[in-house]
Amino acid sequence: MRSLAVLHASQLITLAGPRRPRVGDEISAVGIIRDGGMLIRDGKIDIVGSSDEIEKIARGAEIVDAGVRVVLPGFVDAHTHLVFAGNRLDDFERRARGKTYEQIAEAGGGIWSTVEKTCAANEADLLSRAKKRAHWFLKCGTTTVEAKSGYGLTVNDELKILRVMRQLTQEIPLEIVPTFLGAHAIPRDTPPNEYVDRVTNEMLPRVASEKLAEFCDVFCERGYFDIEQSRKILTAAKKLGLKLRMHVDQLSKSGGAKLAAELKATTADHLEKTDEQGIAALKSAEVQPVLLPGSVYALGSKSFPRAREMIGAGLAVVIATDFNPGSSPTVSMPMILSLACTQMRMSPAEAITASTINAAYSLSRGDKIGSLEPGKLANFVVFDCEDYRELAYWFGFPQTHSVYVRGEPVIR
Ligand SMILES: [Zn+2]
Repeated sequence: MRSLAVLHASQLITLAGPRRPRVGDEISAVGIIRDGGMLIRDGKIDIVGSSDEIEKIARGAEIVDAGVRVVLPGFVDAHTHLVFAGNRLDDFERRARGKTYEQIAEAGGGIWSTVEKTCAANEADLLSRAKKRAHWFLKCGTTTVEAKSGYGLTVNDELKILRVMRQLTQEIPLEIVPTFLGAHAIPRDTPPNEYVDRVTNEMLPRVASEKLAEFCDVFCERGYFDIEQSRKILTAAKKLGLKLRMHVDQLSKSGGAKLAAELKATTADHLEKTDEQGIAALKSAEVQPVLLPGSVYALGSKSFPRAREMIGAGLAVVIATDFNPGSSPTVSMPMILSLACTQMRMSPAEAITASTINAAYSLSRGDKIGSLEPGKLANFVVFDCEDYRELAYWFGFPQTHSVYVRGEPVIR
């Protein structure tokens, strides 16, 4: 049995607490142990306590001296679009010159260029690109990501993307939670309802029978999938045993939050335009909001979602990167912490809870990851600072010192 003793964390941020997503004041309770330590056996956390206590029982264990640095659970990024080919540099420049997301899409840029390149790429090519980005995530302290398909939009290309994710999980230490997002956009040559039928009757059964995804997602937005179409796809997904996530109320208030509540989705993501009624609907069904301030920032918009009202209403808020080539080209959870604190008025503690334990629950993994508690996987990060608030305070450069997955160093 291999054992590891982590000693001398200036602050060991445990996120210990009730075995459910954190709401209200609980979101601020990150569980700080000063001069903290952990004993790890066979990749799992055995004992958490003061450095002194751990040192006394650590006989024979390999010592990891945190050197008076902050130790945190690995970040859990609950919303990414990890697998794609190409980039969107031309769109980025167009936007810098004043064009909007919708104008760029109408001009033939936007998601279409990524779909074309992703369809043209083979599995090996997509895999090597995704591997490189997975390494970026690890370097920023993220040890689990949710990843969506959605740049294929044909049966074969959607399945190809999901198979790349499955392969990736076997080759790298970053854990990937796969989501099927065939309903990301409607191919230009296909009548909308015909495409909805294809997603429902052809793609979903294949995804379910090959067990390629845990969740199904829909881009519920004007010009993409309306409420009726979204309901049809997600109802079919639920019948096949998939859990639900949704892109809602990003560009316009379309009633997506209400639909997420009606369908008892696990999460409703974006919510930039969601109002009090939408927030109340989410609360009534205990849907977790996943807020994505990186995309608001990168699109040059000012309409950040109402995080304070959501926390006030008792929602178990999650924050994530929305990593994608078009609207949020960042893998950096520390950058998202900064945006959460400066633009959404969340406290550093709330932002940490939203990017670890609450995110883990939103991926149905709250019993395994997201906090440093006995029995959980030893996924943790040593950051080169003494106070956890520095992660959100100093922005734009990585403070990662080392990263461990199941007790093994993966970045050091
Ligand atoms: Zn997204």
